[in-house]
This record gives sequence, C-alpha cells and structure tokens, in this order.
Amino acid sequence: MEQICNGCDNPIQAGRLKALPGTKVCVSCSTAGKKKAVTITGGDREDTFNDIIIMDDREYKEFVKDDLRKNTLD
Ligand SMILES: [Zn+2]
Repeated sequence: MEQICNGCDNPIQAGRLKALPGTKVCVSCSTAGKKKAVTITGGDREDTFNDIIIMDDREYKEFVKDDLRKNTLD
C-alpha cells in the first residue's frame, strides 16, 4: 500500500514504511533531530532484499522498541 508524505505529497519509500509503518513523512521531510541509518531485511525466502533506512531519533527509538518486541515474541 502506497503512503503519501504529509510534507511533500510524494510517495514514502517502501522500505521506510516497512520499518516505520506509522510514519507520515518521507526521509527528506523528516528533518528533526539526529539521523540514524538502519539496515533492514525485507521480503521472504528467495525474494529477500536489504535496504538502508534513514530515521530520526524518535523514529529510531520506536523502531528498536518494535524490533525487540518482535524478537521476544518469536
Ligand atoms: Zn516528503
């Protein structure tokens, strides 16, 4: 599902949405705070890919929290 950036009306990068399903803005519009680059793995089985997502500090904290929760449930 395509999500449109609240800031610039361009589609938000698919990998960014995967890592941050709740995000409302694209990378270039997310300018507040420090930036972190996070490598994620998407897809499944023979169809996997790696992507680098740029997040701000708040997004990164949510991402890490989310990731920990997934790992604990597994
Ligand atoms: Zn934007």
